[in-house]
Amino acid sequence: MAEGLGLHTVGDLLRHFPRRYVKAGELTRVADLHEGEVLTVVGEIARSELKQYRDRRTNRMAFRLETVLQTDGPRLRMTFFAKSAHTARWQEGRLAVGRRGVFVGQVSSFRGEWQLTNPKMILFGVSNAEEGEADVVDSYGDLYPIYPQTKGVESWDIQRAVSFARSVVDDVPDLIPESVMDEHDLVDARTALDLVHAPDTFAQVEVARRRYRFEEALVTQVVLARRRAYLHAQGAQARTGGGGLLAAFDARLPFELTAGQREVAEAVEADLAQPHPMNRLLQGEVGSGKTVVALRAMLRVVDSGGQAALLAPTEVLAQQHFRSITAMLGDLAAGGMLGGAADGTTVALLTGSMGKAARAEAMSRMASGEAGITVGTHALLEDKVMFADLGLVVVDEQHRFGVEQRAALTDKAGFPPHVLVMTATPIPRTVAMTVFGDLEVSTLTELPAGRAPIQTNVVPLAEQPTWIDRVWQRVREEVEKGHQAYVVCPRITGDELEEGERDVLEVGEDDEVPVPAPKQSLSAVTEVVEQLASGPLAGLRVEMLHGKLPPDEKDRVMRAFAAGEIDVLVSTTVIEVGVDVANATTMVLLDADRFGISQLHQMRGRVGRGGLPGLCLLVSHAEAGSPARERLDAVAATTDGFALSRLDLDQRREGDVLGSSQSGFRSSLTMLRVLRDEDTIVAARQAAVGLLERDPDLGSAPALAAAVAELEQSRQSDFMEKA
Ligand code: ADP
Ligand code: MG
Repeated sequence: MAEGLGLHTVGDLLRHFPRRYVKAGELTRVADLHEGEVLTVVGEIARSELKQYRDRRTNRMAFRLETVLQTDGPRLRMTFFAKSAHTARWQEGRLAVGRRGVFVGQVSSFRGEWQLTNPKMILFGVSNAEEGEADVVDSYGDLYPIYPQTKGVESWDIQRAVSFARSVVDDVPDLIPESVMDEHDLVDARTALDLVHAPDTFAQVEVARRRYRFEEALVTQVVLARRRAYLHAQGAQARTGGGGLLAAFDARLPFELTAGQREVAEAVEADLAQPHPMNRLLQGEVGSGKTVVALRAMLRVVDSGGQAALLAPTEVLAQQHFRSITAMLGDLAAGGMLGGAADGTTVALLTGSMGKAARAEAMSRMASGEAGITVGTHALLEDKVMFADLGLVVVDEQHRFGVEQRAALTDKAGFPPHVLVMTATPIPRTVAMTVFGDLEVSTLTELPAGRAPIQTNVVPLAEQPTWIDRVWQRVREEVEKGHQAYVVCPRITGDELEEGERDVLEVGEDDEVPVPAPKQSLSAVTEVVEQLASGPLAGLRVEMLHGKLPPDEKDRVMRAFAAGEIDVLVSTTVIEVGVDVANATTMVLLDADRFGISQLHQMRGRVGRGGLPGLCLLVSHAEAGSPARERLDAVAATTDGFALSRLDLDQRREGDVLGSSQSGFRSSLTMLRVLRDEDTIVAARQAAVGLLERDPDLGSAPALAAAVAELEQSRQSDFMEKA
């Protein structure tokens, strides 16, 4: 019956929980009612009177049953119309004085009183359906459950089916072992089922929900704990160094590592020395110096005779990493060549847009082992790409890569390689524990010394349309001081979206992002670049960068900007991650409300990198007080990435938090909220680890083992579908 709800088994049905509950007496604030509002109310028939009248339209006799419903609060009129005497009498019998039930309908006012006309109802103690069907509704407590419904399937139908299922199912398998239930003070499965579907009090509902949340967290955490154990049990080659490359690199590093960088570096080094694969997530603000930490890990692996690969999310970033790594290494990256350092190695670049010959050349250096370090994009994941001895995979900006891509790369090594994942989007602890629960997490909290602060301002064009002139004047002043600026637009042309941008525009269907009128719209790279070059920024060197440009052109523009040959770079979010030009001091974000919070924070991290104070201007048509404007104000108010990330996540739905690559988990989380239920997740994680220590195969908890297997299976099938 309930195909549309995804309910196929009795088990599904019993796990279809009420969305809310109605209490007798809910109708207490009659003063707050609005015409047309749907009211769900529990009450008792206090008066019932059948009236006969002449229907003016048809000129026939008709009937109407006028009743008064007594709720815990005020009384409410309910009127039922009937065409035939037969129906009217039947209705009168059912709605006799003293009858209790739940009534749902739209309120309308009639002679100054609120009334329901032909409300739907479930009556307690009478058969609600056709003759012969079992009567199940009188088994309800004081709270009446309202189920999520879908077209064609009413809450009633579901509720009746659930009641029936509850009455016939006597064996409810308990996923949570008794010892865990005792320790965490949880009710058993049968009790939870009864309390969630037929509670007397909201406290009972909460008791049931607490158990279900724990159950979900436990299954998820057991899956993750098993995965950690599995990875741990795999052999990897310990990479303990030996060569002198890392030491030579450290000796020429122009700065001291921060305390945080040293700490993470030690943890990474210890991981690399283990005979099982490292699986570590390194998170840290934009500019916190993650790349240096990663490069040092790569050099350590090369010193141990192995190779390392750095996987970047975009072509621009791969090229930039390649350039900056080559530059940082200097003659250490000219191994085997005349003038190269004795301990040196070489760095290869592999991207999809490279010519055939260049690609073949890079691939042969990777396969022979000559290239100690390879930097690349998704092109690294292709089947024909081979390494001689891949010891470490570094994934930059994890949020662009799914678990499956990580797996594709790790498949390229004889032994599973060590894996270091880097992300600049700070991840709240419980999200990390749920989404990346198979990874160890390190966090860089401090920025390297000498980093100048970034000043962020909202430019509210809705109220101050002329301030845009001041924005361009400010850009001009910066350029006159010898600095450079970014102008970031949400789209390439009038009607195209930049890759990845769709996600952002769809964030939270509910928070209406005001779309500016086209004539005011500032948002397209190709248009903005022309307007600026021929208008307010005439005479400056203005160029554009976006994802649809030919790769050579992208590379040329980035190089020219890095070399200071371009004053103002008009671009899309391709500059979002990792792009590092110290002389760029100003960033103007046009239609800034089109970007997500984390994205804005990431992008402004592009300025203020070279010891020069940064300025970030968020230009927007969003009205003061609108949700879009509040997002911008939040970004302007703080540079604390964790606070912003939390705010961002709070505004999204759970599925977005967990990401598309985690859909196996997403669909398994119905009660749990990773941000809200931190305590539950932490407790469940401990319980999961404890259980597996005592009983690795979960032989003593067959129902849990089955649920875990099912979740592992669903993750596996997600993986297969995408591969
Ligand atoms: P992230 O990848 O975390 O955004 P990067 O590793 O790109 O940060 O570092 C940003 C800039 O800071 C780079 O120019 C880098 O050379 C520099 N940097 C890194 N570590 C330090 C340090 N300890 N002291 C000074 N500058 C540093
Ligand atoms: Mg970086």
